[in-house]
Amino acid sequence: MLLKVQELVAAGQPLDLQGTLDMSDLFQNNSEYSPLSPMKFDVTAQAVGDRILVSGQLSCDIRLQCSRCLEKFDETISVPFEEQFRIIEDSETEVSENDDAVPVSEERIDLSPYLLEGLVVQLPYAPLCSEDCKGLCLDCGKNLNEQSCGCNTEKIDPRMAALQDWFKSQKE
Ligand SMILES: [Zn+2]
Ligand SMILES: [Zn+2]
Repeated sequence: MLLKVQELVAAGQPLDLQGTLDMSDLFQNNSEYSPLSPMKFDVTAQAVGDRILVSGQLSCDIRLQCSRCLEKFDETISVPFEEQFRIIEDSETEVSENDDAVPVSEERIDLSPYLLEGLVVQLPYAPLCSEDCKGLCLDCGKNLNEQSCGCNTEKIDPRMAALQDWFKSQKE
């Protein structure tokens, strides 16, 4: 998705950009995140002084793996997007450290990597199929959402366990 900088500045008005970006390459070798659709973007680019502000909404359908029960589930992710670019001259080397804006000197900005990153960083880090997912039994590995197992999952306080072992060894 190329944004033509001079055209945008010359137009003197915001430019709406809509389209899709393929994400399958990005998650090719990833079993936890499988995109079910290309990413959709609907953003507005606006030139303000020496800056270009791009903001809007990103969305995609994605298959996620629950971090507790490891089951796959599908979700539609929709997140806001905002990025700022600063037009600089080729000769300009001084870059303010307090400036979040991405310096650009080319006539065209390829927005694709910024849009993709904008969505990816907001994907759930530890996805959950549901808020109260019971997860897997730590002993037998059964999915506790589907059936309960007969395991004794009562939590044993490790301090008490140590004490019990110690008492036992004293008696022997
Ligand atoms: Zn789950
Ligand atoms: Zn079990």
